[in-house]
Amino acid sequence: MGVRVAEKVRVAMISVHGCPLLRPGGREAGGMNVYLRAVSRELGRRGIPVDVFTRCHEAEAPSMVDLGGGSRLIHVVAGRQGPVEKERLYAYLPQFRDGVLEFQRREGVHYHIVHSHYWLSGWVGQAVSAAWSVPHVVTFHTLGESKNRSRWGERESSLRIETERRVVAQADKVVACSPEERQQLLNLYWAGSQKVAVIPCGVDLGLFRPMGRDRARRQLGLKASKLLLYVGRLEPLKGVDILLRVVSQLSEEEGLHLMVVGGDAASAGETERLRRIAWELGVQNQVSFLGTVDHEALPLYYSAADICVVPSYYESFGMVAVEALACGTPVVAARVGGLRSTIRDGEMGYLIPWHCPEPYAERLELLLGNESLKRSFGRAGRAWVERFSWSLIAEQVLALYEELLDSNTVVPPSMALPA
Ligand code: UDP
Repeated sequence: MGVRVAEKVRVAMISVHGCPLLRPGGREAGGMNVYLRAVSRELGRRGIPVDVFTRCHEAEAPSMVDLGGGSRLIHVVAGRQGPVEKERLYAYLPQFRDGVLEFQRREGVHYHIVHSHYWLSGWVGQAVSAAWSVPHVVTFHTLGESKNRSRWGERESSLRIETERRVVAQADKVVACSPEERQQLLNLYWAGSQKVAVIPCGVDLGLFRPMGRDRARRQLGLKASKLLLYVGRLEPLKGVDILLRVVSQLSEEEGLHLMVVGGDAASAGETERLRRIAWELGVQNQVSFLGTVDHEALPLYYSAADICVVPSYYESFGMVAVEALACGTPVVAARVGGLRSTIRDGEMGYLIPWHCPEPYAERLELLLGNESLKRSFGRAGRAWVERFSWSLIAEQVLALYEELLDSNTVVPPSMALPA
């Protein structure tokens, strides 16, 4: 291995729609936003300044925010300075690219690596890395083709899928969040096996730790004797409707309650749909829709719950599952995507192979009725997720940068994507 990157590297992170300062759990912010904040902070701690470029999503947003450790957040004007649907952002990518290039010229900084997040940013990342002749790393976080195949009714555009294919072909490295995502990149996106590295997402083990169930319940003022928890953005792909049907099947369980954490004004349509389903099933009094909860307050909710349920049709990683395990709470999750490798079936929770309520109900009933099994699952889960600490994840990201800089990869300008 050659020079330690810490001695020379400055990183440009591109995140067109995922401003790390947005509150996660709303329609447009979730795991990727948490990831960006955590990885930038960890790299900053190692003396590697990161500039995160993101779209200016509100008129009052400052053009630059200090993220600590030499890292900065830079708001780039692209389109109106207000919320814009993700699907409509493609038209503003050339303006965003020009804004990043202009910032670099004005500041006179030299970036050694471009790391982009999500397909829209992949487009920008490819263009600016070519302009600067530096390596481009891309992490997609979700893949359009995989989403389309995971649930009937999902319709990610061919523009997205074609752009993803082009970025996969042109980037120097693609980071998959799980072995399953790597396989999808190989099979559905024809990525070369050498191009794809697996680096999982992480968890803040200091923040997410067991707090004691009774204490957490007292602090939250919760009375129910059996508590299930869902945490995440509210959208059909997350499968919360399956969980509502599970609650109706478990209605014999005394004192059973489900807390649904997540959802903001922008997800009002989906929240309304879920509320209606709860009414139709007659479980409206057993379900609380709590809206988004501050990330820092979530350990209380995970600790208060008996079981965290992740009924998604698709997850490239599934940070919520890992956060719950870190708090010593067993997880019952769909056997899809990254969840297949973040949870060990039968050791710290259960993986459910079908998107229907019966198998969930059967496993939840088993766990809810067995306190010692729950406790041993909780202990095993906490020990297992130590491997996902942000510090270890950042080391892996850094090792990847080192490898690229050592091999002196240069992107010929001819590979720049057309505007
Ligand atoms: N989250 C949060 N507050 C909420 C709901 C979610 O902080 O009200 C965070 C949660 O802790 C997790 C992230 O949003 O870190 C969701 O990540 P995940 O990978 O589970 O799902 P994604 O959003 O990537 O689909």
